[in-house]
Amino acid sequence: MQVAQVIVDVPARQTNNPFSYSIPDNLANQIEPGMRVQVPFGNRKITGFVVDICDNSNFDGKLKPISDLIDLYPVINPELLNLADWLADQTYSFKISCLQTMLPGGMRTKNKKKLIAKNQDVIEQHPTIFHGQNEIEYDRGNFDNKTLAQILNLQKAGEIQVEYDLTNHARPIMLRAYKGVLNSEQIDEALKSVRKNAIGQIKLLNILKGQPTDNLLLSKWESMGVTASTLKNAEKKGWVSATSKRHVRNPFLRPVDPSKPFKLHPDQKNAVDSINQAISTQKDQVFLLEGVTGSGKTEVYLQSIAHALEMGRSALMLVPEITLTPQIVGRIRSRFGDQVAMLHSAMSNGERYDEWQRINTGKAKVVVGVRSAVFAPLKNIGLIIMDEEHDSSYKQADNPRYQTRDVAKWRAAYNHCPVVLGSATPSLESRARAMKGVYTLLSLPHRINRHALPHVSIIDMKTEMTKHQSVMSNKLADAIQVRLDKHEQIILLLNRRGYSSFLMCRDCGYVPRCPNCDISLTMHKDTHSLNCHYCGHTEPIPRVCPKCHSKRIRGYGTGSQQLEEQVRNMFPTARVLRMDVDTTRKKGSHEAIIDKFGAHKADILLGTQMIAKGLDFPEVTLVGVLNADSALQFPDFRSSERTFELLTQVSGRSGRADKTGEVIIQTFNPDHYAIKLAQTQDYEKFYATEMRVRHEGKYPPYYYTVKLTGNSPNENQTASEMFGIMNFLKKNLSPEAIILGPTPKTITRINNHYYYQIIIKYRREPKLKPTLDDILIQSQKKQRQGLQIAIDNEPLDFM
Ligand code: ADP
Ligand code: ZN
Ligand code: ZN
Repeated sequence: MQVAQVIVDVPARQTNNPFSYSIPDNLANQIEPGMRVQVPFGNRKITGFVVDICDNSNFDGKLKPISDLIDLYPVINPELLNLADWLADQTYSFKISCLQTMLPGGMRTKNKKKLIAKNQDVIEQHPTIFHGQNEIEYDRGNFDNKTLAQILNLQKAGEIQVEYDLTNHARPIMLRAYKGVLNSEQIDEALKSVRKNAIGQIKLLNILKGQPTDNLLLSKWESMGVTASTLKNAEKKGWVSATSKRHVRNPFLRPVDPSKPFKLHPDQKNAVDSINQAISTQKDQVFLLEGVTGSGKTEVYLQSIAHALEMGRSALMLVPEITLTPQIVGRIRSRFGDQVAMLHSAMSNGERYDEWQRINTGKAKVVVGVRSAVFAPLKNIGLIIMDEEHDSSYKQADNPRYQTRDVAKWRAAYNHCPVVLGSATPSLESRARAMKGVYTLLSLPHRINRHALPHVSIIDMKTEMTKHQSVMSNKLADAIQVRLDKHEQIILLLNRRGYSSFLMCRDCGYVPRCPNCDISLTMHKDTHSLNCHYCGHTEPIPRVCPKCHSKRIRGYGTGSQQLEEQVRNMFPTARVLRMDVDTTRKKGSHEAIIDKFGAHKADILLGTQMIAKGLDFPEVTLVGVLNADSALQFPDFRSSERTFELLTQVSGRSGRADKTGEVIIQTFNPDHYAIKLAQTQDYEKFYATEMRVRHEGKYPPYYYTVKLTGNSPNENQTASEMFGIMNFLKKNLSPEAIILGPTPKTITRINNHYYYQIIIKYRREPKLKPTLDDILIQSQKKQRQGLQIAIDNEPLDFM
């Protein structure tokens, strides 16, 4: 007998072991591993992924059968099924969440059911079930036992139907086309036979007379005044024949012109040769391609991808969050045309579904995408590239908390192909591995055309004068004016959104805080509200202090909205654009800002760190950083690395064409090494300094780390459970393991949940894996008691 092994989706009762189900006759030979199915579980039906099919007669008769198929073909291929096992292991998460993560939005099902009434009588006779609607969401918890029994009986009688809610599930778009099949004599006959008031049919026949054989899309017919129902009728009568054509939604906003490969510079050639050698010999070598912005890394990627394609293989190129894709995607498409598919979160479900299908069927051979694209169903991968490999968006913040770099390396090993990690400021982990020889270091030490790096100056804000209560120093303001006079462009970075970071009463010191979180509220002028950036709480801006009724309540801490206002006042004739989360929510708005600035239809682009990355604007000659300290203020061991990265990256925006660039960094910590070394863009020295700091503090890359976070609505419960976990860890791990905490997180309360954490630092700890697996299993029980536990392997921060 054939038995299917199914990983089921049961929230709160998860396990990594599959359940066995028999395959009913009507589904025999239709089910393959990687398909989703509906199965009975307890007294309900749930969804699951088939991970294996085996022959086993032992189970005979005892197994429940699979109820239904959700997919008609495997949505998880054999490679990805294997990867799911490894991923669950690596990230301490359940297989079901790994499998679900691999599917793009638009392919995920909700684990919800709908009750659908077959006819109006049922609706009217059962108001307690349907409340007058013919379709309701079916959640057993919403009904008492008597009603549940009624539902069951109706279901048995075939009066109602239970369906999975596939509203999130995109569908292919099929376009209908019709063409006439009658000759002119037959048309004349038909015209005689139709009733005089059948205007639609008469119109159709007259059109057919003019152009009888063309296959026209329904939309075309409609534009000529012929409706879909007229055509359907005509099809039945044999006047027209119909065909369906698959319409592929195209996520690309505009076409691009083809481009030719450049003749490589010697450093580029050396890099391309090494990578191509690994592609040809099918070696899963990892390269670290180090080079400042403008050193020609992208050209190296393009020529290596070309080689992989020549070898008959596919290529995967990962980029950080969409903020930097439009330009880079354009360059890839200009080289590889329609073979390129794109996957990112700002696409619609339908677009992602269609792009995913193009990849799965092998039509697209080059995939460009963000983090989740590392699960693209490409076959026979010949090269994986991770641009800006240090970027924090490569780590997933939710379950499964994977690091894209590790998944990329896993797939490279599976496919026997190289990985290229590119960056101007590699993560310390990657650089340390390159120094040890685990990765192969390739470097591009010069900017193409030997453009000088921009001149960077640091302004000490402790002593500097600012222009009328603004955040802008006189020096920066003067430099902006000089560039405006020369008709050159300027980028300003202020890594804080909103209008003011907080409001304070000057008489009593009162600061409005979020009622649900331990954080002050941010003032947003466009919406006239105080917003919490953690839980979404909003309230109106008070006119007087709610505590002492003083009118002297005002905002402190300039955010990007206020900077925009200040800049407009200071430079009234300058054209200003702002780019931050608040101005880029709408689809296409991000591209619109970039296009406008790129076409020099604006003089100043200001915004949060979104503007720092990957954008290539040749007319920009001045970059101003208004608060270089924003990242340094975080109480975290990676704050220096983040600051150095950000400043180096944003400086790379200046002076990329033939004009020399200038960078002005405002800071209250002018002597901090991260800021000083960013000034000279001295990655080498930064690496050496930071490695010493990490060594002394016992931080990565010298130590491996795991972070355990617990939260519940009750602070005592959170604390005591986390103490319990700490003791369990102490009991199981060796004395060499460093266990820190539990301590309350920096922001202890978010959305009325209290967060505590434990950090484990270790070098070699064979018992860690089984101990954490234990905690993962126990976490299910704790979750039912209200405590959520998250295990983060190699967390990005300790906050
Ligand atoms: P990076 O990715 O390191 O920022 P790019 O690949 O974008 O660098 O290169 C910077 C600029 O130099 C781009 O405008 C690119 O078209 C150009 N470029 C790159 N390689 C060459 C080359 N070998 N010859 C001429 N121009 C090149
Ligand atoms: Zn007050
Ligand atoms: Zn809040």
